[in-house]
Amino acid sequence: MPGRRPSSNSSPRWSDFPALWEQPVGGISLAELSSNLIKCRRCDRLVAWREQVAKEKRAAYRDETYWGRPVPGFGDPRARLVLVGLAPAAHGANRTGRMFTGDRSGEWLYRALYRAGFANQPTSTHPGDGLKLRDCWVTSSVRCAPPGNRPLAEETANCSRWLVEELGQLAKMEALVALGGFAHTNLLRSASRLGWLAPRPRPAFGHGKVTRLRNGPVLISSYHPSQQNTFTGRLTEEMFDQVFRIAWQWLKK
Ligand code: SF4
Repeated sequence: MPGRRPSSNSSPRWSDFPALWEQPVGGISLAELSSNLIKCRRCDRLVAWREQVAKEKRAAYRDETYWGRPVPGFGDPRARLVLVGLAPAAHGANRTGRMFTGDRSGEWLYRALYRAGFANQPTSTHPGDGLKLRDCWVTSSVRCAPPGNRPLAEETANCSRWLVEELGQLAKMEALVALGGFAHTNLLRSASRLGWLAPRPRPAFGHGKVTRLRNGPVLISSYHPSQQNTFTGRLTEEMFDQVFRIAWQWLKK
């Protein structure tokens, strides 16, 4: 463990955890990765929270059995397009066990992926609902639902191991979409561990902004389809569609 204390602030202070970011990752398959990931209990606070939420439940879902564990990535293992969000929603993926499934953000995301030709249907309600992704993989920076959707820096650093390993297994990847500023920063921070070179200074987040990662995929940044963004109009469906039009341009090259 690093010597310095984690920040109590919600904003990651990556510099607090240099040792974690340097840890090597081994080469295993996506299936093995998922199998190992769902057993992870490394972050005490997040393990307690995900399990508490799963036990107490939201009234609307009281008859359901919550997943209550880390959530693996979902989609086409041969994907050229990879989307990275923040973390599972407490009553969304933490309930259903599938990324962006069973919540409002997921409704937005999969509608957009359907319009863009990456999904076979516009809805995502539960595993087994028939949803299939084509040429697309969806994952997140942190795999356990955090209180207030705000993982601490140490938790993000802990979980970067899973993200780096997963991205390393997606051999066909050509474009990454960062859903939100958190994912944007996290991906730039993780780039060197995958052998990718990010520009210096690291580019600031901007909706629709494209960053070339030398030896790696292109990084396209988007506002996260959270209710905070979609209800306020910061992110419209047209703006979201624009991100996937940009992605297609890079995939066609
Ligand atoms: S957040 Fe990531 S590292 Fe922490 S317990 Fe969950 S899966 Fe493990």
